[in-house]
Amino acid sequence: MRSIIFVLAACTFTFCSKAQNNNNQMKPEDTEVWEPVPKVVTPGTSTNTAPGDAIVLFDGTSLHQWEAEKGGAAGWEVKDGAMTVVKGAGGIKTKQTFEDFQLHIEWRTPAEVTGESQGRGNSGIFMMGLYELQVLDNYNNRTYSNGQAGSFYKQRIPLVNVCRKPGEWQTYDVIWTAPRFNADGSLKSPARATVLQNGVLVQNNVELDGPTLYIGKPAYKQHGPGPIALQDHGNPVSYRNIWIRTL
Ligand code: MG
Repeated sequence: MRSIIFVLAACTFTFCSKAQNNNNQMKPEDTEVWEPVPKVVTPGTSTNTAPGDAIVLFDGTSLHQWEAEKGGAAGWEVKDGAMTVVKGAGGIKTKQTFEDFQLHIEWRTPAEVTGESQGRGNSGIFMMGLYELQVLDNYNNRTYSNGQAGSFYKQRIPLVNVCRKPGEWQTYDVIWTAPRFNADGSLKSPARATVLQNGVLVQNNVELDGPTLYIGKPAYKQHGPGPIALQDHGNPVSYRNIWIRTL
C-alpha cells in the first residue's frame, strides 16, 4: 500500500514539474489565439437602442413585421411610438421566425389601475410562440409567484420583483436558447433563458419544462423555429422599441 502511494506521489510530482518545465519554455505568443475574429458591431447610444446587427421588429411607426395570431393583419393600435393591445383583436406575432436570440422589448401597463392579481395589466411575450415570459402589473399587486412579471408563466419564479409603477415603461432583455430535438422527436436539450427586467437579472439561465400551459404540466413536443408573439389578455398593455439579434 505504502509503495503504491509513493509511486502515485512520484508520478504526480513528475507530471507537475513537466508541465512547469513546458510553461517555462513557452513564449507569450504561444497562448495567443487570433482566429476567428469577432465581428465588429456598432453599439447603440444607450443600452436600449438597437445595435447595428439587430433586426428591428417595432420602431414605433408600423406593424408591418407583425400579423394576427388568428391570421390577417395585426389589429393593435399604433400611436405615439407604441403599439397597444386592442381587446378582442387577439394576440399578434412576428412574420419572421427565430431559434436562438437576444431580444429587447419595452412594455407598459396602464397608468389607470383596474383589476387585481392576473387581471391587472396582463399580457405576455411568447418565445417561439410557445413559452410565455409574463407581462403583468406587479407593483403592489400580489399574484402567484410563478405567474408574476418576470416569471416564465407557471414554471419559473423571477429572482426579484423589479417592477416599475403602472404607466411607466419597463424593459426586458432575454437571451434565449431554443430546445433541441433528436431525429426521433425526443428532447435532446430543453429551452434555456436568461432575462433582465429593467436591467436587473430575474431569470438566470433557467431550463424550461416545455411550452407554457394554463392548465396542467408542460411537456415538450418537437418543433422548429417560431415567432415572437404578444398576448391579448384584454388589458391595454403597450409595447415599444422591440429588436432582436439572432444567435
Ligand atoms: Mg400573460
